[in-house]
Amino acid sequence: MNLKPLNEPKELRILRHLNSRMELSEKEIQQYRNLEKGYVGEVVFSQFLKPLGENATLLFDLLLEQNQTLFQIDATLFLNNEIYLFEVKNYCGDFYMDGEILRTISGNEVKSPILQVKRSESLMRRLLSDMGGSAVKLHYYIVFVNPEFTLYQAPPSLKAILPTQMNRFIRKLKTQPAQVSTRQEKLAAKLVERHIEESPYRKLPEYDYGKLGKGVVCLECGSLRMEVFKKRQLKCAACENIENVDDAIIRSVKEFMLLFPEKPVTTPVIHEWCGLFRSNKAIQRILSTHFTQIGTRKVTYYVKQ
Ligand SMILES: [Zn+2]
Repeated sequence: MNLKPLNEPKELRILRHLNSRMELSEKEIQQYRNLEKGYVGEVVFSQFLKPLGENATLLFDLLLEQNQTLFQIDATLFLNNEIYLFEVKNYCGDFYMDGEILRTISGNEVKSPILQVKRSESLMRRLLSDMGGSAVKLHYYIVFVNPEFTLYQAPPSLKAILPTQMNRFIRKLKTQPAQVSTRQEKLAAKLVERHIEESPYRKLPEYDYGKLGKGVVCLECGSLRMEVFKKRQLKCAACENIENVDDAIIRSVKEFMLLFPEKPVTTPVIHEWCGLFRSNKAIQRILSTHFTQIGTRKVTYYVKQ
């Protein structure tokens, strides 16, 4: 049971939209790529966990607080009255262990996932104890999901699952008598309740409406060069990708809502945001069909259905 499913992080979605509509600094592009890579890693890991099916309770991307300290856990698995915590890493290339430090083969230190895991494990243990779950057995692993990842000098005691061990690890979990007690279910639900949605660490580039590029972003190449092609179709002038007009506008409205949650969605605003048509008509039709209209004839705006 997927009690808290894996979703694309909000920060990643915002950065992707901004990347199409403004010039990001190198640091921001790096942040965007890292988030993308991290998310892809979690998607890969979630696929590995699939064979566990309904017998396991899964929570993805929990951000929790214990004693005014925040900690994040990529995946939490409740299985057979035990809890598994996973820190997922999508590193690619050759690395080695230098004591407790993880280094790239050229010697650069990588922000230590081992310390991160130890810290989260101890905070989670205390949090569970506060929630009445102190008797639960807790396991914590760093999962390296990328098949092109190699780790030298790793001691067998390292709480890590390497790409070559992944299938065996899941098979082993699968052979366990799968059951989650009601008590554990309650514990899992309590953790979801405690999840903090808005991370205070979320750092986004500053942006304002006036300076963002207007148009419909192409799903294939990310450019703003979608143009009216046939009736009810758009075509990208850069890569020739074709998309249905309604789908493209709906997606652009959702993008606008994510970037500017405080701005009212009106026909003229979306008309300008999408920059496609001479008249407002098509925009008005799509908004009134796919979103909920609020207000009178004079002041009308739209919200999600
Ligand atoms: Zn394109």
